[in-house]
Amino acid sequence: MPNMPISGNDLARFSGPQSFMRLPEVASAEGLDVGFIGIPMDIGTSWRSGTRMGPKQLREQSAMIRPYNIQTGAAPFDALQCADLGDVPINTFSLSDSIRIITDTYAAHLKHDFIPMTLGGDHTLTLPVLRAVAAKHGPLALVHIDAHADVNDEMFGERETHGTVFRRAYEEGIITANKVFQIGLRGTGYTADDFTEAAGWGFNQYLAPELWHKSLTPLAADIKAKIGDQPCYITYDIDSLDPAYAPGTGTPEIGGLTTPQAMELIRGLRGLNIVGCDLVEVSPPYDPSGNTALTGANLMFEMLSILPDVPYR
Ligand code: MN
Ligand code: MN
Repeated sequence: MPNMPISGNDLARFSGPQSFMRLPEVASAEGLDVGFIGIPMDIGTSWRSGTRMGPKQLREQSAMIRPYNIQTGAAPFDALQCADLGDVPINTFSLSDSIRIITDTYAAHLKHDFIPMTLGGDHTLTLPVLRAVAAKHGPLALVHIDAHADVNDEMFGERETHGTVFRRAYEEGIITANKVFQIGLRGTGYTADDFTEAAGWGFNQYLAPELWHKSLTPLAADIKAKIGDQPCYITYDIDSLDPAYAPGTGTPEIGGLTTPQAMELIRGLRGLNIVGCDLVEVSPPYDPSGNTALTGANLMFEMLSILPDVPYR
């Protein structure tokens, strides 16, 4: 029988292990189908910090999530062996060293066949994770939900930060440019054409105003058809949501997605060959109600619910 989250009827939700959904904490991915991994990092941020506390608060808020997705019918724990692999031992005094540690840690775990689901942490972490995941699966299709395209060339001369991730990934060939989908982009630019260069590489970009007041179910269907069966990674930056829904983040931008739109989008991606997911940029110091982390933890559960081989009832 696969692991089950501890039930709130067996042990009070405010007690027990501080793992994601109170799953068993394990040291190795051997035998797992899905492993939750925390990356407690904020030294790649450019404005408000605090995401180093993100994994801890996402895990805390996940304690209320029950194992069955009764809205969609998904029963991930009936078939997938899931556990929490703990946190990556980053070097909080060195971003470049942390990036190396993240790739090495994921490469070691990925000797086993499992899907890493990462709790961030600032968005820088997606680059070293993608390097390890692409080394196993080849170039990846990418669904990137974010207020920002994160395609700067450098920031203060640094080439690996939370704002440069997808330019580096494109340059390194670890993502397939015409199968990159960036959803929710908005805000202000450093230049008038911040986004257009990446569109020229082949990135598919969906600005938030195009999506206002609309269901994202048709968009998800379109993305799914375009990606086909290529191994796909989903990176969810919580600042894609409007600050009304997710104020606890480092670089908030007004006019964002709603929580129901995020759920429609993720649910509509069921059927993709997903090989990894992350949820990044939750900053607990700016999230006094815990609502941002609650939303983030539930979006992780929505991503878990659409993984290959999850049974639906
Ligand atoms: Mn981002
Ligand atoms: Mn962002």
